[in-house]
Amino acid sequence: MNTSSGQGATARREVIRDLLSRTPRKFDPPRDENGRRLKISEFYGMNTFDLLQMREKLPKDVFSKLQLTIETGKKLDAEIATTVAHAIKEWAISKGVTHFTHWFQPQTGSTAEKHDAFISIDDRNRVIEKFTGSQLIQSEPDASSFPSGGMRTTFEARGYTAWDPSSPVFIMESAGTKTLCIPSVFISYHGDALDEKTGLMRSMAALSRHATELLHTIGVTGARRVVPTLGVEQEYFLIDRGFYQLRPDLVMSGRSLLGGQPPKGQQLEDHYFGAIPARVQAFMAEMEHELYKLGVPVKTRHNEVAPSQFETAPIFEEANIATDHNQIVMEVLRKVSLRHHFAVLLHEKPFAGVNGSGKHNNWSMSIAASGPDLDGENLLDPGKTPHENVRFLMCLASVLKGVHKHAGLLRAGIASAGNDHRLGANEAPPAIISVFLGNLLDRILNEIEAGSTAGKGVEAAVIQLGVSNLPEVMKDNTDRNRTSPFAFTGNKFEFRAVGSSASTAFPVTLVNAAAADGFAEVTSRLKQKLASGKKLDDACLETVREVVMETKAIRFEGNNYSEEWVKEAAKRGLLNLKKTPEALDQMVQKGSIELLTRMDIFTEAEVHSRHHVRVERYVKNLLIELDTLRLMLDTQVMPACFAYHGQLAMQVAQAKAAGITAPQAGVAERIGKLLGNLQQKREALEATSKKAEAASSEDERARVLSLDVSTAMVEARAVCDELEAIVADDFWPLPKYREMLFLS
Ligand code: ADP
Ligand code: MG
Repeated sequence: MNTSSGQGATARREVIRDLLSRTPRKFDPPRDENGRRLKISEFYGMNTFDLLQMREKLPKDVFSKLQLTIETGKKLDAEIATTVAHAIKEWAISKGVTHFTHWFQPQTGSTAEKHDAFISIDDRNRVIEKFTGSQLIQSEPDASSFPSGGMRTTFEARGYTAWDPSSPVFIMESAGTKTLCIPSVFISYHGDALDEKTGLMRSMAALSRHATELLHTIGVTGARRVVPTLGVEQEYFLIDRGFYQLRPDLVMSGRSLLGGQPPKGQQLEDHYFGAIPARVQAFMAEMEHELYKLGVPVKTRHNEVAPSQFETAPIFEEANIATDHNQIVMEVLRKVSLRHHFAVLLHEKPFAGVNGSGKHNNWSMSIAASGPDLDGENLLDPGKTPHENVRFLMCLASVLKGVHKHAGLLRAGIASAGNDHRLGANEAPPAIISVFLGNLLDRILNEIEAGSTAGKGVEAAVIQLGVSNLPEVMKDNTDRNRTSPFAFTGNKFEFRAVGSSASTAFPVTLVNAAAADGFAEVTSRLKQKLASGKKLDDACLETVREVVMETKAIRFEGNNYSEEWVKEAAKRGLLNLKKTPEALDQMVQKGSIELLTRMDIFTEAEVHSRHHVRVERYVKNLLIELDTLRLMLDTQVMPACFAYHGQLAMQVAQAKAAGITAPQAGVAERIGKLLGNLQQKREALEATSKKAEAASSEDERARVLSLDVSTAMVEARAVCDELEAIVADDFWPLPKYREMLFLS
């Protein structure tokens, strides 16, 4: 063996060599029979069977019943299921689909599926294509290995999945196979929600109930329902798959547990909105085509702040569908990245010291009405008439009320091991929940609070406040605060603190729940005032004024990244929960449980089970990281350092024997010291890991992991990163930040 040069870097070098010869992959965009490339609108949704197509293919009465089911959120009636199933089957088979699956969202953050072929044996023993109504409506996956947080005991391990007809069925293509996916909820035999989607749908119903009641009370009687809308901006990193495979930490935990900072980071600010590299552009185009086929309206693509970080954002949709679509986006990102020899990193903080990734949840509410003038109106859109503006202010007040009252619960909804590394870092919203409204709106609320409009009549008040100019002013993007976790951006709120790998279902469920409570509170106060004989407009403005005064603490217009805000927030009594275990505690506080049960979103047992599942997931994530770090230290970092140190030591000894002073002596000594240090940190890691093992409960274990173990991991990493900076490049086995982030 040649000991004079390191072998450790061979694999890294090979990846870099391969990179130089890699060309952007060309893909086959859909074409017509003459070979003309189709416009997006010509193939958009070709792999979904949506309401428009159902209307075409189904008998009128069946379609009406289906539509009613969708609006009321009830389970599909078995009578029409057979007809609907037949239409779906014919459509799917004509597209070459062989299998179907109920596609559901267990509490793992991703989706689950179990495929069945469309076949059956008929009475003459022949195989035929068959898909019954009951197969469409319901299926019974063996559910015992999905997290349930104690909702299911092992003797009744089965739950069932049920089609959610409000979300269109779609065909997933993979390696030449086609599977019909039926978006479904996942429920235990006692009716407990075992998944992410059931709670979301219940929260949408709660929000609709309470917002509609407010609308009716203020005279908007044409509103039949209110539907929360959601547009999910998805940030992600792309690195070459060759590098990814050489990093056990990325493969196992999604983030790098080691790695020194590159000399150039994002300080030059040259990546954000910069030109997209050709290989990435090819990837994006193919990913978007796949999504268009599935009826996912992705609209925007751009570079993000960090090197190798990107974003894709869709046109907003109903929250339930947007959530399904975001799951599909994450799945398609992964799938298409493979074809381009990329690895997509959805983790909130794949690279320490480099900008993290979020999933900005743009959220608003839209009116469903029979009349065309009201239908589709955005409740958070400031209007053009005094009355529309009163409606806007009432809705805004309701959201403020809800967020103020349930800030802790909202924080719990975004808590995860990954997001802990991002929240509070100085490029992400802090762990403190606050609301940004923008200059103008802030001033308006302050004036309402000061009472300058009291007794003026709504017309005069609105004119004085300048609310009628809002739509124009709000479109101006200069009044933006990118540091706020919950920012009003003209006609919607942007909940930015959600992690990039998270399912949006739970955070949005909680936003809906909080807002529903705000609406309930605002409506009840308004009704009291009306009962005491006040005029509607006066009663409205008075209610808004009360809410503005009560919710002042969560309004913050300044820089959320600053140290002053942390101090100021503490003074205001706002929570600043930095780590997942303490944040999750907020879910099981009395106020949270009371809200979620009163709104019929979760039973108390369901809340506890969700808490349990999340604590357990946190513990598992940290244990995986811990084991991976141990493995990397023991089998990669230390051996590389020993080898290099050994070589230097030998050279020093040889020089000494020859009577010369070796110039390597200083480096050898420094590495020797660092290695000693690393071994100590390695032992400390072992000790904290024993402490985690010995914890008396899962909650306690989570706490030990979030404090002792995390600290020990950071300390071991620091030494390791120092070693990376002086060990000869030839010896270092792990792809470096500068390679992963700057070469593609
Ligand atoms: P910006 O926030 O930069 O103004 P956009 O207007 O494109 O960008 O919006 C960002 C995201 O917000 C997009 O996904 C968009 O569809 C979504 N969005 C816009 N209006 C609404 C709405 N009323 N409800 C929910 N999401 C919305
Ligand atoms: Mg963004």
